[in-house]
Amino acid sequence: MMRIVLLGPPGSGKGTQASAIQDRRHIPHLASGDLLRAHVADNTGLGRRAKPYMDRGDLVPDELILDMMAERLAQPDTQRGYALDGFPRTVAQAEALHRRLLGLGQRLDAVIYLRTPEAELLRRLSGRRICPNCNAIYHQDTMPPKREGICDRCDSPLVQREDEQPDVVRNRLRVYAEQTDPLLDYYRAQDLLHEVDATIGVDRVLAEIDRVVDTASKQTAKDQT
Ligand code: ADP
Ligand code: ZN
Repeated sequence: MMRIVLLGPPGSGKGTQASAIQDRRHIPHLASGDLLRAHVADNTGLGRRAKPYMDRGDLVPDELILDMMAERLAQPDTQRGYALDGFPRTVAQAEALHRRLLGLGQRLDAVIYLRTPEAELLRRLSGRRICPNCNAIYHQDTMPPKREGICDRCDSPLVQREDEQPDVVRNRLRVYAEQTDPLLDYYRAQDLLHEVDATIGVDRVLAEIDRVVDTASKQTAKDQT
């Protein structure tokens, strides 16, 4: 049983790591960005309200996010714990999560912060290309398609996600610094924060996270006895 939060700027690799945690620990990876994009794709009321914020790289208002996450966290697969990715993203969201957990007699086990320099974030985010047809993901530097701008799998022309256009990327990083960076102090004060250098390579980052999660789960087991 583990409740983990992955914290880090856009491009820090939260999604990759959270999905690796899902596979290794058998707890669901809950990504607020993926949930939002699913609402947009399904054209739900929430999706229609959230889309303009997402396209600009601004945060979706807290009350919309809190309703969406409350619904997701109420589903039975979260009983065994979860790895949160992209939520909480403001102090108000973190406080709401805290109240919810308190009400259930639960708490978080660890908050993992993927520390990444800004230049690296810009490079990672602006080089990403996706296939609108089959959702394959490429990167101009690290995983280029065989033919420039064309999907290897289905020959469709690759595109840049709306929120990965350069202006929007800069806005997302600014919004992160203003609204999400304060969470570091918030979780540090609760003694939950673990920092991992996100530039040492995907596998080594995962090994570091494994170590942190193992330590945290031993601590939780001890606290329960
Ligand atoms: P990234 O972390 O790379 O910015 P995400 O896929 O997590 O990407 O989020 C994409 C967009 O969805 C964000 O730019 C924001 O508009 C919105 N979003 C996701 N999670 C939240 C959240 N917890 N609070 C507010 N907005 C959010
Ligand atoms: Zn494709």
